[in-house]
Amino acid sequence: MQFFNVVIVGAGPAGLISALELSKAGCHVAVIEKIKDVREVRRACSQQLILDEEYEGDIVTVNESGFYFKNADFTVPYKGDLIPLYDKYYHSPKNHCLHFARDNGKTPFSYKFQKTDLLGGMYDLCEASGVTFFMHTRASKISDSDAGAEVTILHKDRTSETLFCKKLILAEGVNANLANRLGMNSKRFYMAASPVVKQVYRGVTGIAPNSWNLYYGKAYYSNSPVIIGPGFDGTVEVTATGGTHVRPLEVLSNFTTKSPMAEFFANAQLVDAYGCCLKARMPMSEPCKGNVIVLGDAAAMIETEVQGAFLCGYYGAHAVIRELQGEDGWNDYTKWWLSAFEFNRADYMRVAQGYGLVPTYTDDELDYLFALVEDVTMPGTYSQYRTPALMWDTIFSRIDIVMEDNHALYDKICNVNKISLNTSLTASK
Ligand SMILES: Cc1cc2nc3c(=O)[nH]c(=O)nc-3n(C[C@H](O)[C@H](O)[C@H](O)COP(=O)(O)OP(=O)(O)OC[C@H]3O[C@@H](n4cnc5c(N)ncnc54)[C@H](O)[C@@H]3O)c2cc1C
Repeated sequence: MQFFNVVIVGAGPAGLISALELSKAGCHVAVIEKIKDVREVRRACSQQLILDEEYEGDIVTVNESGFYFKNADFTVPYKGDLIPLYDKYYHSPKNHCLHFARDNGKTPFSYKFQKTDLLGGMYDLCEASGVTFFMHTRASKISDSDAGAEVTILHKDRTSETLFCKKLILAEGVNANLANRLGMNSKRFYMAASPVVKQVYRGVTGIAPNSWNLYYGKAYYSNSPVIIGPGFDGTVEVTATGGTHVRPLEVLSNFTTKSPMAEFFANAQLVDAYGCCLKARMPMSEPCKGNVIVLGDAAAMIETEVQGAFLCGYYGAHAVIRELQGEDGWNDYTKWWLSAFEFNRADYMRVAQGYGLVPTYTDDELDYLFALVEDVTMPGTYSQYRTPALMWDTIFSRIDIVMEDNHALYDKICNVNKISLNTSLTASK
């Protein structure tokens, strides 16, 4: 059996930064990761850094060293490519658009980065700082007792061994399988599992440069919006989410050949594809138990985003250090976790349901509503809490017109938004 102060499952953003912080503090740290090389990660990710102020309790800026987290006061090194995003559009079936931008599109609301470079740089720093990596190795069993935690690991050649540690970090990503085995998901309401596919194309026309586009309506063959954003080297990335009755590849095939977007894909070539499956659960309200702390997506309602995972890893590592010194680090971390993330707010689900435009509204209704406010540029935000709040505030500023034009639609809006609208009106002011 090998002994470590801390074992970390998962070399994603949460696992890597916690490994680095713990190693810098003098801990003997091991990281277990099932993929062979973090520079070859194939899981779908749009790789966007979110610049909204106070998003997830911090303000992130880009400087020559990397991504600086102002409130936590640390930098994640990054010197790779960046693509600024200036405009976010919601498109209706007849291409009426809701527009979100900062300073009328002069200041980016997001930067696209290369996740493989970001994680690769972190991996090198961890190795240089003395972190032991078990790559191409799966953590298959875990147990926890007063004495510490044990992790059975299974190498690619089918040999296994057991690691012992004082504290165990589960940074295993969204599906939280190991946390589940410790009973840490038992209070989390399970919502659904959604497959996601991202396809990378060359030669697509009709997309505004440096823009982020969500397509709403049955005309696009999906209840979830199909999303188009920029890729590297002149490509664009198209992302679709499937559901119980429709697979993402079917959505993408229809979107690119039969929907109103088909003409822009007429000469496009598919150059790459990524995928993943997301198990959506309500977030973990108690991310620490015994000697174990759950960080990043594993404790979230779907995702913390990359920068949120870095924050979890950073604060989680400092909580572990306090625990190792006999102090109550778990309480500090839990307080921060519950206050930092939008999905931990009591009214998050009600406001976020404002996103559920399809099938609640018909394609004609979406065309009408988007046309009603398409002359307005709303503040450029990435937030999945603030965006629907802003959208409904703007539509409601003209609700008297809807009442006159289409009373049935007015009634529908009022009924659907009865709870969420009041909350959203106050939330975005
Ligand atoms: C379609 C899509 C688009 C996204 N777009 C963005 C975006 O634009 N911007 C953004 O910031 N975020 C985005 N995200 C979210 C982002 O990818 C995650 O929030 C982030 O990677 C979470 O980091 P993490 O460290 O918690 O988990 P992960 O990055 O998932 O890392 C977990 C690691 O644990 C490993 N692992 C799991 N189980 C085991 C085991 N038993 N043994 C060994 N290793 C194991 C996995 O292989 C993985 O490497 C997107 C996600 C999706 C699905």
